[in-house]
Amino acid sequence: MSEILPIVKYPDAFLRTRTKAVAEIDDHVRDMAERMIHTMIAARGIGLAATQVGWDARVCIVSDTGEPGDCHILVNPVVEETWGSEAMEEGCLSFPGVNAVITRAQGVKVRFTGLDGGEHTLEDDDLLGRCCLHEIDHLDGVTFLGKMTPADKLANRRALKRLEERAKATA
Ligand SMILES: [Zn+2]
Repeated sequence: MSEILPIVKYPDAFLRTRTKAVAEIDDHVRDMAERMIHTMIAARGIGLAATQVGWDARVCIVSDTGEPGDCHILVNPVVEETWGSEAMEEGCLSFPGVNAVITRAQGVKVRFTGLDGGEHTLEDDDLLGRCCLHEIDHLDGVTFLGKMTPADKLANRRALKRLEERAKATA
């Protein structure tokens, strides 16, 4: 029922998709959200956006531990407010082997629809908030590659090249 989804990896163009809002929380959305949680946990991530599983929908999973009971499902998330600024190391399930220090807002308030159909807000100025910003970027077709410093791009050039070559080999 809740099988694991393949993760879309860099340099797949689907990662640049600006996803469509979810019109209705139906069985398909609930099923996909559950599969995304399983996929994220199996991959030992702490966040996963629909874009990363080839689904054109504004849905993402965020967590600050990656534990099953600690995942938030955000449908149609909107950043309402941000404050501060902080540099922190990030990885991304679509960029295996790539890590970079990314500067983002330190705190964020996100409004979203839950699987219950209700409106909710999430406010955090730690790892969970950072995770929201990274995943919402994905839903806008933006990856952390575009936010890396030239030094970080250089430091990751081998890992990026390896991903590009792997994609060419399977194309
Ligand atoms: Zn990511």
